[in-house]
Amino acid sequence: MKFLILGGGYAGLTIAHKLRRHLNDEITVISRSRVVRENTIFPLLLTDEVKIEDTEFDAKEALNKKGIDFVEAEVVQIFPESREVKTSSGVFDYDYLFLALGGGYEENFEKIPGHEHAFMHHTLDGFLKLKESLWSSEGDVFVGNAPRSPIEGPSYQVALIAEYILRRRGRKGKVYLTTQSRRGVFGAIPIDGIHEKANSYFEKRGITLLKGKDVTEIKKGRVILNDGNEVYADVISVIPTLSAPKVIRDSGFTGTSGFVEVKLPSFRYGERVFALGDLAQTPFPRTARAAMISAENAVSTILKEIRGINLPMYSLGVLCVMEGGDDGGILRFDTNGKDVKTALAFGKHYVAIKKAYSRLLVKRAFDVPYHGAPEISQNQY
Ligand SMILES: Cc1cc2nc3c(=O)[nH]c(=O)nc-3n(C[C@H](O)[C@H](O)[C@H](O)COP(=O)(O)OP(=O)(O)OC[C@H]3O[C@@H](n4cnc5c(N)ncnc54)[C@H](O)[C@@H]3O)c2cc1C
Repeated sequence: MKFLILGGGYAGLTIAHKLRRHLNDEITVISRSRVVRENTIFPLLLTDEVKIEDTEFDAKEALNKKGIDFVEAEVVQIFPESREVKTSSGVFDYDYLFLALGGGYEENFEKIPGHEHAFMHHTLDGFLKLKESLWSSEGDVFVGNAPRSPIEGPSYQVALIAEYILRRRGRKGKVYLTTQSRRGVFGAIPIDGIHEKANSYFEKRGITLLKGKDVTEIKKGRVILNDGNEVYADVISVIPTLSAPKVIRDSGFTGTSGFVEVKLPSFRYGERVFALGDLAQTPFPRTARAAMISAENAVSTILKEIRGINLPMYSLGVLCVMEGGDDGGILRFDTNGKDVKTALAFGKHYVAIKKAYSRLLVKRAFDVPYHGAPEISQNQY
């Protein structure tokens, strides 16, 4: 059988490793670059706690060692009827297809009016430019998200680190942070007390929270919010609204949400197609952990079907380790439908744990099957 994986990020590589652990069939990953980066650790680039080379690995080399093909190419179009994928390196066919091309960050950022006056704290390039600006600018800093952005954790981290950098530099500038929820930081977590504790931590760190707000437009040196108010800042960094990337939308996979609407917990889109990670529609934030769990569940589903192998399925949740300059923290919200596991705590040691986990992800080319997520049944959700 031919297993074709589009995208060599958290979801795509997890699929490849797990399929190979159980099958000798033909597995091919097609992705834009053989250099893959562990981007959850990028905020630590701002303070030189990690270097660029600590975040990256050669996916082709790692996969080839396991007899998995890696094709460095651009995916151009997908034809599910003929089970073919057109790429810049030719056409590939498949028995099973995995869509794991991530979220369309750049294309959505470019849709924000005035985006050229802001950074996007998502790409490596965005982080490097933001770093330069945070260490040299004299004024205030604004960090926020555009409407319906499905991940706020990186904004929390960038705001905390910005506060730390300004303090280290002896600057009096303010740091503004918008939260999409009116309840504030982690406002979407349905547990009393979490957001109050989180808000009070951010406020004690001197961060001005703008609750229930998002970014609708950017002008030079100011941001326009959804309520029409303006915030003036020298450094502006924003995460956009997200959707599945254009190639996925143009190939007809997305619904009205702009994401691929899949069955949960299997992440199945059709009989032969699974859609994973940032491009799949779920009620949870789009995270690396969720991307790896989506991959685990999809492969478990296939292995049961084609080989009768029974492997666990996992629930999606929220696990956010906050890198915050000279401090850090963790938020966990996981449930298997019966038990709820929740924690919010602060301390720099959480950052040390995250750094160690990040090293492991890089060393093993994302072949790290333990995600600390509760097991669930195949039929849950
Ligand atoms: C700063 C930051 C901090 C974060 N912190 C956390 C955190 O603490 N915890 C957490 O769990 N998550 C975190 N995330 C979120 C996490 O990084 C994403 O959710 C994750 O990358 C999604 O994985 P994915 O496999 O869906 O997509 P990706 O990892 O984005 O992989 C997609 C791959 O497909 C390739 N590709 C895309 N289009 C094409 C094409 N047309 N042709 C060929 N190849 C293509 C890309 O180059 C990429 O290699 C953070 C993200 C950022 C930016």
